[in-house]
Amino acid sequence: MEEESIKGNFIKNIITEDIAKGINGGRVMTRFPPEPNGYLHMGHAKSICLNFGVAKDFNGRCNLRFDDTNPSREYQKYIDSIIFDVQWLGFDWGEKICYASDYFDQLHEYAVELIKKGRAYVCSLDGDQIREYRGTLTKPGRESPDRDRPMEENLDLFERMGKGEFQDGAYVLRAKIEMASPNINMRDPVLYRIKNISHPRTGSKWCIYPMYDFTHGISDALEGITHSLCTLEFQDHRPLYDWLLDEVSVPCHPRQIEFARMNLNYTVMSKRKLQQLVEKGIVDGWDDPRLPTLAGIRRRGYTPEAVRNFCNIIGVGKKENRIDVGILENAIREDLNEKAPRAMAVVNPLKVTIENWEDGRTESLEALNHPQNPDMGTRSILFSRNLYIEREDFMESPPKKFFRLGPGREVRLRYAYFITCTRVIKDENGVITELICTFDPATRGGDAPDGRKVKGTLHWVSEEGSVPAKVHLYDRLFTTEDPEADTHDFTQNVNPDSLIKITGARVEKGLADALPGEAFQFERLGYFCLDSKLSSPGLPLFNRTVTLRDTWAKVSKKGNTV
Ligand code: ATP
Ligand code: MG
Repeated sequence: MEEESIKGNFIKNIITEDIAKGINGGRVMTRFPPEPNGYLHMGHAKSICLNFGVAKDFNGRCNLRFDDTNPSREYQKYIDSIIFDVQWLGFDWGEKICYASDYFDQLHEYAVELIKKGRAYVCSLDGDQIREYRGTLTKPGRESPDRDRPMEENLDLFERMGKGEFQDGAYVLRAKIEMASPNINMRDPVLYRIKNISHPRTGSKWCIYPMYDFTHGISDALEGITHSLCTLEFQDHRPLYDWLLDEVSVPCHPRQIEFARMNLNYTVMSKRKLQQLVEKGIVDGWDDPRLPTLAGIRRRGYTPEAVRNFCNIIGVGKKENRIDVGILENAIREDLNEKAPRAMAVVNPLKVTIENWEDGRTESLEALNHPQNPDMGTRSILFSRNLYIEREDFMESPPKKFFRLGPGREVRLRYAYFITCTRVIKDENGVITELICTFDPATRGGDAPDGRKVKGTLHWVSEEGSVPAKVHLYDRLFTTEDPEADTHDFTQNVNPDSLIKITGARVEKGLADALPGEAFQFERLGYFCLDSKLSSPGLPLFNRTVTLRDTWAKVSKKGNTV
């Protein structure tokens, strides 16, 4: 099926108009420009789907470009993870990956061009002074004493900055625009600063590095980007983006279009906040399955298709909003409902002994791998005298509406037989340790020839047909929709039950050979996948990707947040 790109897309309308006007000869080119200072999250996924999606819709291309202008906080490991994630999401950037650092020579030339035109100057104010001189929203800025430094002197100083003659912070290069501008970004913004450190890609060639605003527009222009899509906080930077591209002799002038950031409820999204969770040990690394990082949701069992679908469904707008994470959960449910083979697992086992089944005898029964999709075939499951069912599928004094097992009650074991509970065995504390049941041999496969009905069908595994397993049940990482509201420390809103570790589960024997990330629907329990990190052949660990239904909506209505 051909996937539709992001819905309700005002950006596509703008581009369609631009094409109609013949701008750029109808060519469309976008870019996804991450700074390699952290792992990608769902917000980035949205930006990726938007940029690559728009390019595809207009038969254009989309570059992957690293905005690597700040070597003090950017690392190769982030570059590697970002490349992996974009590929995982299913997007193709063509022949080569772009790096802003590849344009350092050109950027330097454009800076010199600005100086020569009298549009940039070297300023000796320090960071605090620059801030102080800049003024506020209500107060105009003051001009730097260096603002009218002669052009030759600026050229000389800028050259010496580049030669490493000065300490960090001694000088900066600033655009000469307007200190009284109502837009603070236009008050002589800094273009270059001294950083006497080496860069992962350019080594020790440079000790001055261009600022984001200067770099971004010029990189866009050098790559022939036609539409530069960015988040709303850059709206006030657009006049600067346009000013710079008008002042330097770049080959083209891309159009910047802003859209609203994507936020999800019950989580935090910015790299800085995610980093805090990792550093404080609240989560187990950047790929903790509870995090909205792409590494995290991948480990949790999300598929690229589900993420893309989600991004397309939620659309793109001009107003910040908070998307219900339930929509994301539904996207993965829909995808896995189609793809994931069914299997049986018992998370909280209660032992069942079939007293009229011969000790030592096992029987192979046939189970469907997908009840709605016969193409997915069948598998054998083993029945025997010793079984396990889910502890919560038994009640000693069941209320009326409880259709599962109770003393004297008959239920169906999925794909197997009807069984009736005849006796309950307890330990000295009164805890039920075992159920004694009988089975009806005439109900093999799960139907009674006399037409007798049972109300409940339970999942189960047999002792011989299962292996021990660990299971991690995940819930929302925060108890509140907006964890940052009304608190100085959002980590206080972490859900203490966001991870429940279960050690004594049992899964069908065949699952011992599952591959990392392989997904299953555990019947009646949810979608699970084999953990890619903590699983071992002798003791597989399954992550619950998502429950079968959205139980959260119901529970939270009752005011219960756990
Ligand atoms: P963060 O605040 O998490 O650090 P960022 O914007 O600083 O995010 P970048 O690496 O600079 O991260 O972002 C790369 C691209 O992804 C940018 O174009 C940015 O606008 C976009 N992006 C980042 N977060 C979101 C989000 N929540 N929703 C949509 N797009 C986003
Ligand atoms: Mg950033």
